[in-house]
Amino acid sequence: MKILISNDDGFQAPGIVALYEALKTVAEVEVVAPEQNNSAKSNALTLHSPLYVNRGANGFRYVNGTPADCVHIALTGLLGYRPDLVVSGINNGANMGDDTIYSGTVGAAMEGYLFGVPAIAFSQIDKGWVHIDAAALKAREIVQQMAQQQLIGAAPWLLNVNIPNLPLEAIKPVKVCRLGRRHSAESVITQVSPRGETMYWIGAAGPAKDEAEGTDFHATAHGHVVMTPLKVDLTDHDHLRYWAQTAAHLGGAAQKAV
Ligand code: MN
Repeated sequence: MKILISNDDGFQAPGIVALYEALKTVAEVEVVAPEQNNSAKSNALTLHSPLYVNRGANGFRYVNGTPADCVHIALTGLLGYRPDLVVSGINNGANMGDDTIYSGTVGAAMEGYLFGVPAIAFSQIDKGWVHIDAAALKAREIVQQMAQQQLIGAAPWLLNVNIPNLPLEAIKPVKVCRLGRRHSAESVITQVSPRGETMYWIGAAGPAKDEAEGTDFHATAHGHVVMTPLKVDLTDHDHLRYWAQTAAHLGGAAQKAV
C-alpha cells in the first residue's frame, strides 16, 4: 500500500510527523506538505506564482503552496506513481460541521478524492497536540481497517475523521456521524499597526449551533472518534424543483418588464 501524506499545518507540524511515524510501519509513505501553515485554505490552488518543491531535514518534501497544491502536483507528476490512499493531517484542532468548508486538511484529502484516490482527513479536537501519538495510532488503526476490508483501491471515497485528545485506552470506538453546524464566526478583531493603519484579524470560529445526537460535535464530546463520509456535489437536490419553478416565474416577469 502506497500512501501520500499531506496536511495544512505545515511539514514540520507535530501532527504530520506523528502520522508519518505511525503509517510508515504499515505502508510505503511519502510526505508532500506546505512549507508554512495553510490552515483554512480549503481547496485553493496557486495559479499565479510558481511552486517550488524542497526536501526538509526530516525527509519530507515541502511546497511553497497550499495543501491542495501539494496533493495536486504530487498526483499530476511529482510522485511518478499513483498512491493507493491520500491521508491528510493530523490537524491541530477540530474540523467539524462548517469547518469542513474552510479546512485545508479536508482540502488536501478532497484533492486526492477528486483525482479518484480514496482519502481521509484526520484532525484532533483540541489544539496543542496533547496525546498526538494516541491520535496517530487511532489513525493507523482506521487505515489498516480500510485496507483489511479492501476499501483501498476500490471506488474512491472521502472520509473526515476527528479524534478526541485522550490517552489511547480512553478513546471510545469510531462512530459514523453527520456534520453538525456552527454559529457564525466571532467578530473581526481590529488593531492599529505601528504605522497607524487599522489591521483586521479574522475572528474565531463560532461555537456549535447544531450539536444534537448524531452529529460529530456530540459524539466527540463523549469521547468517540467520529467519521463522516463527505461528498463534493454542492447541488441542493431537495430544492431543484422549487428553483426550476421559481426561475420559470422570474423568466416570465423579466419578459413582461421588457
Ligand atoms: Mn490546520
